[in-house]
Amino acid sequence: MTELLPNFVAGRWQAGSGAGTPLFDPVLGTELVRVDATGLDLAAAFGHARQTGRAALQALTYRERAALLGAIVKVLQTHRDTYYEIATANSGTVKNDSAVDIDGAIFTLGQYAKWGDALGDVRALRDGEAVKLGKEPVFQSQHLQVPTQGVALLINAFNFPSWGLWEKAAPALLSGVPVIVKPGTSTAWLTQRMVRDVVDAGVLPSGALSVICGSSAGLMDQLHPFDVVSFTGSADTGAVIRSHPAVARQSVRANIEADSLNSAILLPDGMPGTEAFDLLVREVVREMTVKSGQKCTAIRRIFVPEAVYDAAAEAIGAKLAGLTVGNPRNESVRMGSLVSRAQLTAVRDGLAQLQREAGVLYDGNGPQGRPLVDADRAIACCVAPVLLGTRDADGAALVHDVEVFGPVATLLPYRDLAHATSLAHRGQGSLVTSLYGADDAALGRTAVELAASHGRVHVITPAVAKAQTGHGNVMPMSLHGGPGRAGGGAELGGLRALDFYHRRSAVQASPEVLAQLGLTAA
Ligand code: NAP
Repeated sequence: MTELLPNFVAGRWQAGSGAGTPLFDPVLGTELVRVDATGLDLAAAFGHARQTGRAALQALTYRERAALLGAIVKVLQTHRDTYYEIATANSGTVKNDSAVDIDGAIFTLGQYAKWGDALGDVRALRDGEAVKLGKEPVFQSQHLQVPTQGVALLINAFNFPSWGLWEKAAPALLSGVPVIVKPGTSTAWLTQRMVRDVVDAGVLPSGALSVICGSSAGLMDQLHPFDVVSFTGSADTGAVIRSHPAVARQSVRANIEADSLNSAILLPDGMPGTEAFDLLVREVVREMTVKSGQKCTAIRRIFVPEAVYDAAAEAIGAKLAGLTVGNPRNESVRMGSLVSRAQLTAVRDGLAQLQREAGVLYDGNGPQGRPLVDADRAIACCVAPVLLGTRDADGAALVHDVEVFGPVATLLPYRDLAHATSLAHRGQGSLVTSLYGADDAALGRTAVELAASHGRVHVITPAVAKAQTGHGNVMPMSLHGGPGRAGGGAELGGLRALDFYHRRSAVQASPEVLAQLGLTAA
């Protein structure tokens, strides 16, 4: 029997009372550890976080809590090598892909530590300027934000066991709100280990950070009106969260990050031979292959001018053909595996669906690709990239609707820019789109048009070819989230992320009283 990972709740480590769900190495097929949440006293777990954890955190100022984030960064840096080993074993990722998850998390925590320090030694945030309520300024209204009086339940997806925890926990803890994280089960080991290291280091007050691995049963039932829930995962589970009575009736604030049909658009000036064309090809290949395409922000639809369709298909296919797929422990491998057999099946099913309306332009799993490196096709959850395409971008329905969570993208031609933007909007709300071209005015106009249906518009011109941070790379400085189908959520974006963990209120009083509120400087 493999080790049963304990949960950390109510200030102590507690094993579930069931046999546990096994977690596997998706490349070797071996069982690694087990997780289980059966029999936990969830009411006690939430109560401890809500009372003890919150009281301790909210007794501190923003600057003091920022120092806690800095201390977490140091703990995580100390154990970084172990995290890479766990990611390789449990997520099947090569080093560069593990870095997106692990170092991306440490970077995000570090940013919030810096931003929090600048907020200073206060316990409430100024929200705009005071406004007089009558003719004379003797009686005024000052909006402010105070930390919510509850806990933050973080329900996370399997694809970012590290970043998914810390990109949410950083603004929550900085806001003084205790965190209870429930990671996606198949890759929960890394989340559990990171929490274990932070708990062992004793850098956080009791109740500030809890982890529950395994079944989600009963978690939502524990939420009180001032708690918040931040969910990342599929649209279907998102709908379950949204319709739970805690959210629907008690107004528990819910942030939903769901699936998304992101896109890349090559502008009309991006003919083959231009730098913009090459930049699109490079970025598409990167997005299809990083973490084997298991990124919520990955490019799924590629829009190019009609005249460029064949050249784009050829250039992307040629680059994909050079890719080595297999066991991430082998240094020559550039792309590892999907996280589980369930995901392998889901990707194959999704591919079959899309092929009802799109043809195969490149398939690394067939004779066009290379053999798997150090991996047995019968066991390993490896799938090589597949580029699909159809010249009928309007008639295709599934490619604008079905998210295949793997190394799969579809090439689609457009007539003019208005057509391209209307096709991008058919994702019905996406996390990100990227634009490639050299015409600043056209790029600016298009960016504004696409902003209505995208959380982020990433514009790549030759001038920023080296400096740009990557279409799918979620930087803490920018909003992460998207309208409509993407869930309507909003994470990150600097200190804006703190809004979710705060309550806005207006104090109406004399300027003398308002001066005593102890708010951040104007
Ligand atoms: P999922 O099946 O919806 O699961 C997400 C999380 O919800 C897991 O922790 C899961 O637990 C839990 N869960 C399942 N049923 C639940 C319920 N009834 N009540 C409460 N929690 C429940 O999604 P996934 O397969 O892990 O993740 C893949 C999807 O996430 C993709 O569609 C991807 O686009 C999306 N995603 C979005 C973002 C974003 O930021 N927008 C980021 C990453 C991924 P178990 O694991 O135990 O089932």
